Amino acid sequence: MDFLPIFLNIKDRNCLVVGGGEVAARKTILLLKAGAQVRVVSPNLNDELNNLFQRGSIIFHAETFDPVYLKDVVLVFAATNERSVNQYVSEAANRLGIPVNIADNPALCSFIMPSILDRSPILIAISSGGTSPVLARMLRAQLETLIPAAYGRLAYYAAKFREHVKHRFSSSKKRRLFWEKILQGPFAEMVFSGKNREAEAYLFSSLEHEINEPPCGEVYLVGAGPGNSDLLTFRAMRLMQQADVVVYDRLVSPAILDMVRRDATRIYAGKERNKHTLPQESINHLLVRLAKEGKRVLRLKGGDPFIFGRGGEEIETLSQHHIPFQVVPGITAASGVASYAGIPLTHRDYAQSCIFVTGHLKNNTINLDWQVLARPQQTIVIYMGLLGLPVLCEQLIEHGLPVSTPAAIVQQGTTYKQRVVIGSLETLPALASAANLVPPTLIIVGEVVRLHQKLAWFEPVCDSVGE
Ligand code: SAH
Repeated sequence: MDFLPIFLNIKDRNCLVVGGGEVAARKTILLLKAGAQVRVVSPNLNDELNNLFQRGSIIFHAETFDPVYLKDVVLVFAATNERSVNQYVSEAANRLGIPVNIADNPALCSFIMPSILDRSPILIAISSGGTSPVLARMLRAQLETLIPAAYGRLAYYAAKFREHVKHRFSSSKKRRLFWEKILQGPFAEMVFSGKNREAEAYLFSSLEHEINEPPCGEVYLVGAGPGNSDLLTFRAMRLMQQADVVVYDRLVSPAILDMVRRDATRIYAGKERNKHTLPQESINHLLVRLAKEGKRVLRLKGGDPFIFGRGGEEIETLSQHHIPFQVVPGITAASGVASYAGIPLTHRDYAQSCIFVTGHLKNNTINLDWQVLARPQQTIVIYMGLLGLPVLCEQLIEHGLPVSTPAAIVQQGTTYKQRVVIGSLETLPALASAANLVPPTLIIVGEVVRLHQKLAWFEPVCDSVGE
């Protein structure tokens, strides 16, 4: 080991920051977070530090560094752009045995700063020993995705219930086993999803009677986003790693399915147009049955589960059967696809509102309130509208939108198979048909579509797949 990692208590202790720029501000904020009294010595301050000074959060000496400022100080940071000043600070601090850190100059440091993952009171500090701060930061970013934001809450409960647990179990081994079970089980999941009252009740009842009864499973209703696996949420990723069974839809891309825990059972629930592999009722009951067997069930849906996803119906059945569940939002096709096609859904100059509708075709008609749709300064996003596209365009024109209104249809948006076809209400049906698009496709109508030409940024690898 080149360095000894330690965690220092600096609450109410004096710490000195020499310098008034961006780096000095970062160090100051960190010190304040840890409860220190911070003095800043610098001829001038940047806005951020000045704000802190105006608010009374720091003491400020508008001077150049002098060793007198080291009096009663327990920690020093220097981040000036004067090499000689940094050197002087380092020497003066070392002489007094005060730990000192000089930004970007390991040779002058008596301690170095790690990359920090803050789930207070849990803290993870990562260091490359000064060899590669980038590597340490990358590692931190990976851990960010794995450790839920509410992880620190577990420590809070551990502290709160410590005495109860001590009282309940006399042997330390039994206590350890209890905590291991609690901190990895449904309790932790309740805390992570913000069900604090339920979590506490669970903890109490587990203290009263040993948890022997077969645990009831849980259902995670998770939005997998529009297809690109980079657009999954952290929470989706984490639950994908701990599911016993995954029940997934057609819209969930293979790349995303690949990221589900290897030994989870995979059940395809289908939902192709006119080819409902499992009727909705059966899906609802399948989820109930699996959860009652004690399984952690991942119900994985494309986009967001509450937008044209029938997620509401699924959890209604769960709630009737008292099965615990949580819902994880996903990026819905409208926002994912619009972003990747360079079409802002609202824009100060073109659209002040945006409306999402389904263009599902039934008996050759689409049941929509055309009056509400055919309004100026509004963007219309149509899900499931490929087959109904001619009817859609026709009706919007009939209800008053100009034939020249820009319109786009996007195939497999956000993925490398994305294709964007741009036209107007008049031309889009023919253009789409000539392009032989494959589902899923999303239609966007409104003046904002004009911006595609300027704002398109995403280049799919393969422009002509699906031909
Ligand atoms: N719950 C989903 C929508 C389910 S309805 C969500 O929030 O996105 C299915 C429709 O979504 C498809 O018919 C298509 O219109 C649209 N869709 C989903 N993913 C898409 C994608 N990657 N590209 C284009 N359209 C998509």
